[in-house]
Amino acid sequence: MPIEDIIDAAADDLPLGLSFLTSALLTAEDNEPVNQKWSSLDVSTANRYADCHIHSTLCGHAKHTLSEMLEGIRVSGLRAAIFTEHLPLPEEIDPNREVSMRFSDLEPYVATLKETAEKFDYLRSKGEDAPRLIVGAEADWLNQDPDWSRQSVKEARAAGVDVVLGSVHMLDGWAFDDPAQVEEWDRRDTDEVWDFYFSEWIKAVKSGLYDVMAHPDLPKKFAFIPADPREYYHEAAAAIAGAGILCEVSTGGLRKPCKELYPSQDFLQELVRLNVGLTLGSDAHSIPEIGYGFDYAAEQLLKTGASHQSLPTGPVHEGKIELLLL
Ligand SMILES: [Zn+2]
Ligand SMILES: [Zn+2]
Repeated sequence: MPIEDIIDAAADDLPLGLSFLTSALLTAEDNEPVNQKWSSLDVSTANRYADCHIHSTLCGHAKHTLSEMLEGIRVSGLRAAIFTEHLPLPEEIDPNREVSMRFSDLEPYVATLKETAEKFDYLRSKGEDAPRLIVGAEADWLNQDPDWSRQSVKEARAAGVDVVLGSVHMLDGWAFDDPAQVEEWDRRDTDEVWDFYFSEWIKAVKSGLYDVMAHPDLPKKFAFIPADPREYYHEAAAAIAGAGILCEVSTGGLRKPCKELYPSQDFLQELVRLNVGLTLGSDAHSIPEIGYGFDYAAEQLLKTGASHQSLPTGPVHEGKIELLLL
């Protein structure tokens, strides 16, 4: 089918347009009251950035569907975007598909993204604004089932996923970042949880499975933070520098009780000192969260001496990384 026909067909599938987006932006009730410093993406600066971490309702816990999110990305003004849906988790961990996509969704997901990426390329070739779109996925490092972690990334790459984010959201099956399981933090020793987390995070870094490590100090989400976490940052930064993969600077933390970027300023400083390539990710689960707080994140990066955002366009061990000036 000629690309123009694909575009027209896709346009029929996406009866959304700007009026939909405006109403989505006005009903961002899940977000904290708008903070001027960390506000949603500013269209006047959006073209400087790539948002490398975005979800949809395919994972069971987002607000907008894949086609709605893609339309949000199209009109965002961003330079590039990597869609990173959660790869499937074992049945016993996610029986009701509340935190991960179904296996049966993987191929249609990749096909939709590839088709949309072509559509966006075509629009750009006609002088219209549309970001470059890259097919990615977010994969869980499961300490109790590393074989599952390896297998799911293998299947994702075989299905055509170009960029894989590595995340540790669970420790022995406890989803320590899940608001529904936050009471467990009161029963645990914060230092022990952080020890456990960073030992698994470093295993994930060294596994060779991932291109980017997402939200690197996620255990601080609910503000359970050891008195002096700097030792963790040093070890983690050394491990990721040694592995030669990228680390995400996530604005997701700005919308959470910790109210700061993942990684924290001290961690970020150490990553920059060791020349670790840094991506920007919003972890958007709704349209208003796309590119959220990127001007603030860029300011923090510049303060630590970083000058560029890394954009992985494929497996980073094959050198598929581009740099965007901040
Ligand atoms: Zn995540
Ligand atoms: Zn995510």
